Amino acid sequence: MIDDILKTIEKYNNIIILRHQNPDPDAIGSQAGLAAILKAEYPQKNIYITGIDLPVLNWIGKMQVIPAETFKDALVIAVDTANSRRIDNCGDYLRAAQIIKIDHHPNVDPFGDINWVDDSFSSCAEMIFSFTEQIPNFKLTKEIAEKLYAGIIGDTVRFLNGETSYRTLITSAKLAKTGIDISKISLHEDEMSLQVARLEAYILENLKITDSGFGYIIIRKDKLESFNLDEGELDHAVPLIGRINKVHNWIVVSEKDPNRFRVNLRSKCVSINDIAEKYGGGGHPLASGAYVGSMDEVNRLISDMDNLNK
Ligand code: AMP
Repeated sequence: MIDDILKTIEKYNNIIILRHQNPDPDAIGSQAGLAAILKAEYPQKNIYITGIDLPVLNWIGKMQVIPAETFKDALVIAVDTANSRRIDNCGDYLRAAQIIKIDHHPNVDPFGDINWVDDSFSSCAEMIFSFTEQIPNFKLTKEIAEKLYAGIIGDTVRFLNGETSYRTLITSAKLAKTGIDISKISLHEDEMSLQVARLEAYILENLKITDSGFGYIIIRKDKLESFNLDEGELDHAVPLIGRINKVHNWIVVSEKDPNRFRVNLRSKCVSINDIAEKYGGGGHPLASGAYVGSMDEVNRLISDMDNLNK
């Protein structure tokens, strides 16, 4: 598989790396990490990373703006993205000559011409690292290691969740061996702005926990706006509810518009991605997301999550 990917990469001069909407450190770390790897390996090729620029994650990788024509006859590599409709691109990628999908979510939509999908990896960044191990004489730099390490600790919540494996730790040790400042990267991901601290205080004050151990918070649009969060900052508060010992699974519902509610679904043990899929979303067994269109749907989702524990 990796051989096929390398042979395909060799054929193209323009390579565009994409990732999912609402990116997290793993999406950006995999995207920017892979770009740095390909730039090191093929200095003569044009390697681009593009998508909505998220300033809170610019420390891992900054997006480029590229003309739509660049996609024509290019190779697109989509990382960390389970389904084509979640690719953070308005459709220009369909003009590409070939698409490679590299992902660690369940393979619900094999949209690539080549699909390297393996949900046994903790993170897409861990997959990208294993890709470098197949490149003969590849020299891992600190710049690459920082991006991949940021991705791994993002998706494992700093080695906290059940996706963390022996391979994750070995990979992380190899990345650390390049001399990256692992504490600085962890602290960067752990720190929060004052706005997020206030959001967390609101969540803890207003959260509901059912008898079954399901925790949920619904943050209406006006309330959400009052926190003045930067794009992507809400995501920092999602793991918080799971720190409460009696909570088994939880959701954060944020109203984007009167008919559009984003839902972050999480669980400590029982899979919740079936529920996310039922509502048009998806993700991993223990971390999924969806958008729903009404409070009625939100309430149905709440009762499905609650029933999981009964
Ligand atoms: P989030 O709650 O947005 O942090 O997402 C958790 C996981 O679910 C990530 O791996 C996302 O890629 C995935 N995910 C989030 N939203 C969706 C969606 N609407 N459709 C499919 N997968 C999603």
